[in-house]
Amino acid sequence: MAAPLNIIVIGCGVIGLTTALVLREAGHRVRIWARDRPPHLTSSVAAAFWYPYRVSPERRVTPWARQSHRDFSELAAQPDAGILAREALELFRVHGPAAPTWGAALPAHSPAPPDQLPPGFAAGVLFSSFVIETPRYLPWLSQRLLDAGGVIEPHTLRPLDPHRDDPCNSTDLLIDCAGLGARELARDPAVYPVRGQLVRVTNPGLERVILDESGPAITYIVPRSADVILGGSSDEGAEDTAPDPELGQAILRRCVEIEPRLRSAAVLGHLVGLRPCRPELRLELEHRPGGPPVIHNYGHGGAGVTLSWGCAREVAQLVAQLT
Ligand SMILES: Cc1cc2nc3c(=O)[nH]c(=O)nc-3n(C[C@H](O)[C@H](O)[C@H](O)COP(=O)(O)OP(=O)(O)OC[C@H]3O[C@@H](n4cnc5c(N)ncnc54)[C@H](O)[C@@H]3O)c2cc1C
Repeated sequence: MAAPLNIIVIGCGVIGLTTALVLREAGHRVRIWARDRPPHLTSSVAAAFWYPYRVSPERRVTPWARQSHRDFSELAAQPDAGILAREALELFRVHGPAAPTWGAALPAHSPAPPDQLPPGFAAGVLFSSFVIETPRYLPWLSQRLLDAGGVIEPHTLRPLDPHRDDPCNSTDLLIDCAGLGARELARDPAVYPVRGQLVRVTNPGLERVILDESGPAITYIVPRSADVILGGSSDEGAEDTAPDPELGQAILRRCVEIEPRLRSAAVLGHLVGLRPCRPELRLELEHRPGGPPVIHNYGHGGAGVTLSWGCAREVAQLVAQLT
């Protein structure tokens, strides 16, 4: 490779960590500067299964999702990474198109046999997904970065300004993985929160991920190794991170209707996170006269985990063009 660059990655969520790791493994000197670290992040709250939800544009999202699917399939072989290969079933209340829009991102998917559909559903699609257990995966990813020689430091950045005497301006390249924080950091009013609430319950023996996006609210059941994450909700613009008990009850009710075995599950807790949404995910290089260039990588909506590896690899391609 050409000369290694000094790179500051802003943000320590799944996007910042994955991007920093890919760049470090490409030989660059990488430091993460982040205001917050796991478990105090949206990335720590995520359900988190492979599924491109609430993110666009489709023409870019599909290849990123496909790349991440490949990466997760390799990482799932590492027992300590916290990645579970799981079959997933997406349900539809009325017959829709034969192939889901995200189907091109997958090696395979197939129609669900009618006897596997819960009452009230007209169709379903079975596909191979991954459940990423973020309480295990994010520490694993951080450690992998540190072991590779990367650095993670606490640091809150002010809005980016190439003309200010700011330590971040003395690096070769900045990578902006600030999630919702990009609203202020990159002065981008297109970034907005979509609040999501989850219920964590004991696992009564479930293995398959189930998802229904065809009802009035999105509903999903995500079995992990020691618990199940139940969702969900999508409230545009809401920023209140206190759990709403009534919404928690409604989520439980919806999930039990789809999977009656959840009736016996005990509630372990309630979680809330703010998805970093944007009309279109921003992954691009910005040249700034008077300061180091910035590669923006934010606005992953409800699919940051799903797109993390694909986006990180595209950032690495942009960096390679700079060297
Ligand atoms: C309820 C819920 C369920 C979800 N389920 C899924 C799922 O099943 N599958 C999936 O793929 N995705 C899911 N998501 C979406 C996923 O969580 C997000 O897309 C992803 O976490 C975004 O990651 P990020 O690294 O961009 O942001 P974050 O995790 O928010 O990290 C942002 C980082 O930037 C730092 N930062 C911000 N501003 C500054 C600043 N000024 N200076 C320094 N640091 C700064 C923060 O401190 C933090 O370290 C879900 C989200 C929610 C809320």
